[in-house]
Amino acid sequence: MKRILVSACLAGLPVRYDGSAKTLASMLQTWCDEGRLVVVCPEVAAGFGTPRRPAEIQLRRNGRDVLDGTARICDNAGADVTALFIEGARHALQQALAHDCRYALLADGSPSCGSSFIHDGTFSRVAHEAVGVTAALLERHGIRVFAPDGIDELAASINVDG
Ligand code: SF4
Repeated sequence: MKRILVSACLAGLPVRYDGSAKTLASMLQTWCDEGRLVVVCPEVAAGFGTPRRPAEIQLRRNGRDVLDGTARICDNAGADVTALFIEGARHALQQALAHDCRYALLADGSPSCGSSFIHDGTFSRVAHEAVGVTAALLERHGIRVFAPDGIDELAASINVDG
């Protein structure tokens, strides 16, 4: 069976920076019942509390740049939290590899999980097309990352691959 790494907030856990969830229903319950889901929150795994300060990748860069050491992640008080975000991404990757996940379904807009867009580092709610650091690390290890809007495409891939 092909397992799917999924952002904990999409699975209904209230782990977002503001203490909320981003629950995605539909196929997730079916996949949960099938035992396909591996639920992770990279930021909580790295030791952040909930709620916590919002953080963004600085300025209009992306998770790949963070992995390459050419961008950093700061919270809205200016603290550099790059190392912890990378630690969270590594935890997510370890979980994906341990459970043989070939797919990931990640929440959008997050500097960790952002899978089609993230915020631009100005804390002004401006988004741009880019991936977060966890999404980037998973992709570099051959795991196909899907945004919530891509759940139908993910379902089709699961049906093809089994
Ligand atoms: Fe959700 Fe990922 Fe943010 Fe955790 S790090 S709250 S799983 S988007």
